[in-house]
Amino acid sequence: MSKTIAIASGKGGTGKTTFAVNLFAVVDEPVTLIDCDVEEPNCHLFLQTEPEKTERFSVLLPEVNFDKCTGCRRCAEVCRYNAMVVIDKKPMLFEELCHNCGGCARQCPQEAIKEVPKEVATINIATWRDKKFVYGLLDIGQARSSPVIDYLRKNFSNTDDGYTLIDCPPGTACPAVESVRGVDLLVLITEPTPFGINDLELAIKMGKALGLKQAVIVNRADLGAGDVKALCERYDVPIIGEIGFDKEIAKAYSQGKIISDVIESFRNICEGIWQRICELASETEEIKQ
Ligand code: SF4
Ligand code: SF4
Repeated sequence: MSKTIAIASGKGGTGKTTFAVNLFAVVDEPVTLIDCDVEEPNCHLFLQTEPEKTERFSVLLPEVNFDKCTGCRRCAEVCRYNAMVVIDKKPMLFEELCHNCGGCARQCPQEAIKEVPKEVATINIATWRDKKFVYGLLDIGQARSSPVIDYLRKNFSNTDDGYTLIDCPPGTACPAVESVRGVDLLVLITEPTPFGINDLELAIKMGKALGLKQAVIVNRADLGAGDVKALCERYDVPIIGEIGFDKEIAKAYSQGKIISDVIESFRNICEGIWQRICELASETEEIKQ
């Protein structure tokens, strides 16, 4: 039975990618890592691997045939995202707002709108230590994370016995929601600072709203993890790992190393966390049955 584990955080800079990469490194069974932080992927910087294959990814955008268009405004009326407006009987598309739903094309009474592909991202497929690693990268100036994330998850998740690890975009906006939707376990990385705790609560609420089983890892726990514990107790979310600040870990990180390769104590922590993740993810299966 395959399992999907999302590694996420309410804010950036808490160590999310560090844990995603190091858990990927210590897992001794079939696993695929998908970097869904498509605006700014960085797992590949730690894994230092080149893609074996790349694909261009396109979305469908509406294109108006002005010879057929009567300026009836139906396209603007059906667009829930205000991406299509009609001024002086001329439809005008605001590409950045378009969610590529195709509604305007279907509803146009003159069949004046056709959908045309537009390339917005590159999908990179690599192998790292015999494990599959995939990451998407949005083209500069593009803001369409969600369809790229949807494509990555649908096409590259491990469907055999094994695990899919997802390194999620930070925050709780649409790209983060798209990355965690339907996973077997949402693992939130936090740090015990006022900002960290505030954003952890937002992330827990996102997970609850999506009906996800969750767990928390506290990074830099020696700053005083009391408030994080109180918050997790309030929301009934288990803490499955606490890591204090360690100069050697910081040094290995700053050198771009896989920390679990060079610091045994960190590797042991990651292995322990992975065991808890597997236990919690399998409980999710029992609940589903
Ligand atoms: S719905 Fe079709 S005909 Fe009407 S304004 Fe839009 S493109 Fe033109
Ligand atoms: S494809 Fe959907 S989101 Fe884009 S302009 Fe048409 S109706 Fe709006």
